[in-house]
Amino acid sequence: MDNISLLKLYLEAGCDSFYTNEPQSRILSRCSIDELASCKNIQELKALIESYDGCKLKKSATNTVVYDGTPDAAVMAIGEAPGAEEDATGIPFCGRSGKLLDAIFKCFSLYRESNLFITNTVFWRPPNNRRPTDVEISQCRPFLEKLISIVSPKLIIMVGSTALEALMCQTMTMGQAKAKTFLYQNKYLQHGINAVSIFHPSYLLRQPLKKKEMWKDMLNIKFNYLDNLGIR
Ligand code: URA
Repeated sequence: MDNISLLKLYLEAGCDSFYTNEPQSRILSRCSIDELASCKNIQELKALIESYDGCKLKKSATNTVVYDGTPDAAVMAIGEAPGAEEDATGIPFCGRSGKLLDAIFKCFSLYRESNLFITNTVFWRPPNNRRPTDVEISQCRPFLEKLISIVSPKLIIMVGSTALEALMCQTMTMGQAKAKTFLYQNKYLQHGINAVSIFHPSYLLRQPLKKKEMWKDMLNIKFNYLDNLGIR
Protein backbone atom coordinates (compact mmCIF):
# COMPACT_ATOMS: atom_id res chain seq x y z
CA MET A 1 0.00 0.00 0.00
CA ASP A 2 1.38 3.44 -0.88
CA ASN A 3 1.67 6.24 1.71
CA ILE A 4 -1.35 8.21 0.43
CA SER A 5 -3.61 5.15 0.56
CA LEU A 6 -2.35 4.37 4.06
CA LEU A 7 -3.08 7.93 5.23
CA LYS A 8 -6.58 7.73 3.68
CA LEU A 9 -7.17 4.50 5.55
CA TYR A 10 -6.07 6.11 8.83
CA LEU A 11 -8.38 9.08 8.17
CA GLU A 12 -11.33 6.81 7.44
CA ALA A 13 -10.61 4.98 10.69
CA GLY A 14 -10.98 8.31 12.54
CA CYS A 15 -7.28 9.04 13.02
CA ASP A 16 -6.43 12.73 12.70
CA SER A 17 -2.99 12.87 14.36
CA PHE A 18 0.07 10.75 13.94
CA TYR A 19 2.79 10.61 16.56
CA THR A 20 6.20 9.00 16.37
CA ASN A 21 8.58 8.26 19.23
CA GLU A 22 11.22 10.60 17.84
CA PRO A 23 10.74 14.24 16.80
CA GLN A 24 10.65 14.55 13.02
CA SER A 25 12.26 17.53 11.29
CA ARG A 26 10.16 18.75 8.37
CA ILE A 27 13.05 20.93 7.31
CA LEU A 28 16.14 18.74 7.09
CA SER A 29 16.31 15.34 5.47
CA ARG A 30 17.12 12.38 7.71
CA CYS A 31 20.59 12.24 6.20
CA SER A 32 21.32 15.87 7.07
CA ILE A 33 20.11 15.38 10.65
CA ASP A 34 22.45 12.41 11.13
CA GLU A 35 25.36 14.25 9.52
CA LEU A 36 24.68 17.28 11.69
CA ALA A 37 24.59 15.20 14.86
CA SER A 38 27.93 13.61 14.02
CA CYS A 39 29.67 16.89 13.10
CA LYS A 40 32.54 17.29 15.53
CA ASN A 41 34.19 20.51 14.55
CA ILE A 42 33.61 23.78 12.82
CA GLN A 43 35.30 22.73 9.55
CA GLU A 44 32.97 19.74 9.18
CA LEU A 45 29.98 21.89 9.99
CA LYS A 46 31.04 24.61 7.53
CA ALA A 47 31.37 21.99 4.79
CA LEU A 48 27.94 20.58 5.65
CA ILE A 49 26.32 24.03 5.51
CA GLU A 50 28.03 24.74 2.19
CA SER A 51 26.70 21.48 0.74
CA TYR A 52 23.14 22.04 2.00
CA ASP A 53 20.64 22.79 -0.76
CA GLY A 54 17.48 22.95 1.33
CA CYS A 55 17.29 26.75 1.60
CA LYS A 56 16.28 28.51 -1.59
CA LEU A 57 18.29 31.62 -0.66
CA LYS A 58 21.32 29.66 -1.82
CA LYS A 59 20.11 29.72 -5.43
CA SER A 60 20.49 33.49 -5.79
CA ALA A 61 23.62 33.79 -3.62
CA THR A 62 27.24 33.91 -4.79
CA ASN A 63 28.78 32.61 -1.55
CA THR A 64 27.76 30.75 1.57
CA VAL A 65 28.58 33.02 4.50
CA VAL A 66 29.15 30.89 7.57
CA TYR A 67 31.26 32.70 10.14
CA ASP A 68 34.23 34.89 10.93
CA GLY A 69 36.33 35.21 14.06
CA THR A 70 37.71 32.84 16.66
CA PRO A 71 36.07 29.39 16.90
CA ASP A 72 36.60 29.14 20.68
CA ALA A 73 35.58 32.73 21.36
CA ALA A 74 33.94 33.69 24.65
CA VAL A 75 31.47 35.93 22.83
CA MET A 76 29.34 35.08 19.81
CA ALA A 77 27.54 37.81 17.87
CA ILE A 78 24.65 36.73 15.66
CA GLY A 79 23.30 39.08 13.01
CA GLU A 80 20.47 38.83 10.51
CA ALA A 81 21.74 37.80 7.07
CA PRO A 82 24.61 38.46 4.68
CA GLY A 83 24.35 41.60 2.56
CA ALA A 84 25.95 42.41 -0.81
CA GLU A 85 29.58 42.65 0.40
CA GLU A 86 29.21 39.56 2.57
CA ASP A 87 27.76 37.64 -0.38
CA ALA A 88 30.67 38.75 -2.58
CA THR A 89 33.37 37.83 -0.05
CA GLY A 90 31.86 35.04 2.08
CA ILE A 91 32.71 37.01 5.26
CA PRO A 92 29.93 38.09 7.64
CA PHE A 93 29.64 41.76 8.61
CA CYS A 94 32.37 43.00 6.25
CA GLY A 95 30.34 45.84 4.67
CA ARG A 96 29.34 49.24 6.00
CA SER A 97 27.26 47.98 8.92
CA GLY A 98 29.96 45.43 9.76
CA LYS A 99 32.56 48.18 9.98
CA LEU A 100 30.33 50.04 12.44
CA LEU A 101 29.82 46.84 14.45
CA ASP A 102 33.60 46.25 14.56
CA ALA A 103 34.15 49.85 15.71
CA ILE A 104 31.57 49.47 18.50
CA PHE A 105 32.97 46.11 19.63
CA LYS A 106 36.53 47.45 19.54
CA CYS A 107 35.59 50.00 22.23
CA PHE A 108 34.77 47.01 24.46
CA SER A 109 37.91 45.01 23.56
CA LEU A 110 35.96 42.55 21.41
CA TYR A 111 37.97 41.46 18.38
CA ARG A 112 37.36 38.81 15.73
CA GLU A 113 41.06 37.89 15.98
CA SER A 114 40.92 36.89 19.64
CA ASN A 115 37.62 36.68 21.52
CA LEU A 116 34.74 37.18 19.11
CA PHE A 117 32.87 34.83 16.76
CA ILE A 118 30.42 36.28 14.24
CA THR A 119 27.65 34.57 12.30
CA ASN A 120 24.08 35.14 11.08
CA THR A 121 20.62 33.59 11.37
CA VAL A 122 20.82 32.54 7.68
CA PHE A 123 23.89 31.71 5.62
CA TRP A 124 22.91 33.18 2.26
CA ARG A 125 22.01 36.70 1.19
CA PRO A 126 18.25 37.27 0.80
CA PRO A 127 17.45 38.97 -2.55
CA ASN A 128 17.44 42.78 -2.26
CA ASN A 129 18.56 42.47 1.36
CA ARG A 130 15.04 41.66 2.49
CA ARG A 131 14.51 40.16 5.93
CA PRO A 132 14.79 36.36 5.84
CA THR A 133 11.44 34.60 6.11
CA ASP A 134 10.47 32.35 9.02
CA VAL A 135 10.87 29.35 6.70
CA GLU A 136 14.40 30.38 5.65
CA ILE A 137 15.33 30.96 9.30
CA SER A 138 13.90 27.53 10.22
CA GLN A 139 15.86 25.90 7.41
CA CYS A 140 19.11 27.37 8.73
CA ARG A 141 18.29 27.04 12.45
CA PRO A 142 19.53 23.43 12.92
CA PHE A 143 22.96 24.49 11.59
CA LEU A 144 23.00 27.62 13.74
CA GLU A 145 22.13 25.51 16.80
CA LYS A 146 25.01 23.17 16.07
CA LEU A 147 27.34 26.11 15.41
CA ILE A 148 26.45 27.60 18.80
CA SER A 149 27.10 24.27 20.52
CA ILE A 150 30.49 23.81 18.84
CA VAL A 151 31.65 27.35 19.71
CA SER A 152 29.95 27.12 23.09
CA PRO A 153 30.39 30.82 23.90
CA LYS A 154 29.91 32.28 27.38
CA LEU A 155 27.74 35.06 25.98
CA ILE A 156 25.61 35.48 22.87
CA ILE A 157 24.97 38.98 21.53
CA MET A 158 21.87 38.97 19.30
CA VAL A 159 22.44 41.78 16.83
CA GLY A 160 19.05 43.16 15.83
CA SER A 161 15.49 41.91 16.03
CA THR A 162 15.80 39.11 13.46
CA ALA A 163 18.50 37.38 15.51
CA LEU A 164 16.51 38.03 18.68
CA GLU A 165 13.35 36.44 17.27
CA ALA A 166 15.22 33.58 15.59
CA LEU A 167 17.02 32.58 18.78
CA MET A 168 14.14 33.13 21.16
CA CYS A 169 11.72 31.45 18.69
CA GLN A 170 9.09 34.10 19.32
CA THR A 171 8.00 37.49 18.05
CA MET A 172 9.58 40.20 20.15
CA THR A 173 10.56 43.82 19.61
CA MET A 174 13.95 45.20 20.55
CA GLY A 175 12.08 47.38 23.08
CA GLN A 176 10.67 44.29 24.81
CA ALA A 177 14.13 42.70 24.95
CA LYS A 178 15.86 45.86 26.16
CA ALA A 179 18.18 45.34 29.13
CA LYS A 180 17.04 41.73 29.47
CA THR A 181 19.22 38.65 29.62
CA PHE A 182 17.76 35.47 28.16
CA LEU A 183 18.94 31.94 28.76
CA TYR A 184 19.51 30.45 25.32
CA GLN A 185 19.16 26.68 25.11
CA ASN A 186 19.13 24.13 22.31
CA LYS A 187 19.20 20.34 22.08
CA TYR A 188 22.97 20.14 21.61
CA LEU A 189 23.82 22.22 24.70
CA GLN A 190 24.36 20.79 28.19
CA HIS A 191 23.47 24.14 29.77
CA GLY A 192 21.92 27.47 28.81
CA ILE A 193 23.98 30.39 27.52
CA ASN A 194 23.30 34.00 28.51
CA ALA A 195 22.00 35.97 25.54
CA VAL A 196 21.53 39.72 25.23
CA SER A 197 20.46 41.94 22.34
CA ILE A 198 21.72 45.16 20.81
CA PHE A 199 20.47 47.31 17.95
CA HIS A 200 21.55 46.20 14.49
CA PRO A 201 24.29 48.51 13.10
CA SER A 202 22.33 49.08 9.87
CA TYR A 203 19.48 50.44 12.03
CA LEU A 204 22.00 52.70 13.78
CA LEU A 205 23.22 53.93 10.38
CA ARG A 206 19.62 54.91 9.57
CA GLN A 207 18.81 56.21 13.07
CA PRO A 208 22.05 57.71 14.46
CA LEU A 209 20.22 59.14 17.50
CA LYS A 210 19.68 55.56 18.68
CA LYS A 211 23.46 55.20 19.17
CA LYS A 212 23.09 56.68 22.66
CA GLU A 213 20.88 53.74 23.69
CA MET A 214 23.28 51.31 22.05
CA TRP A 215 26.22 52.65 24.13
CA LYS A 216 24.10 52.21 27.26
CA ASP A 217 23.28 48.62 26.25
CA MET A 218 26.93 47.88 25.53
CA LEU A 219 27.98 49.33 28.88
CA ASN A 220 25.48 47.03 30.61
CA ILE A 221 26.92 44.10 28.69
CA LYS A 222 30.41 45.13 29.77
CA PHE A 223 29.54 45.49 33.48
CA ASN A 224 27.36 42.37 33.61
CA TYR A 225 29.42 40.01 31.45
CA LEU A 226 32.57 41.18 29.69
CA ASP A 227 34.33 42.32 32.87
CA ASN A 228 33.65 38.91 34.48
CA LEU A 229 35.02 37.19 31.39
CA GLY A 230 38.22 39.23 31.71
CA ILE A 231 37.44 41.14 28.50
CA ARG A 232 38.44 44.73 29.33
N1 URA B 1 24.01 42.46 8.29
C1 URA B 1 23.92 41.31 8.98
O1 URA B 1 23.00 41.10 9.76
N2 URA B 1 24.87 40.40 8.80
C2 URA B 1 25.88 40.59 7.98
O2 URA B 1 26.71 39.70 7.87
C3 URA B 1 25.96 41.80 7.27
C4 URA B 1 25.01 42.72 7.44
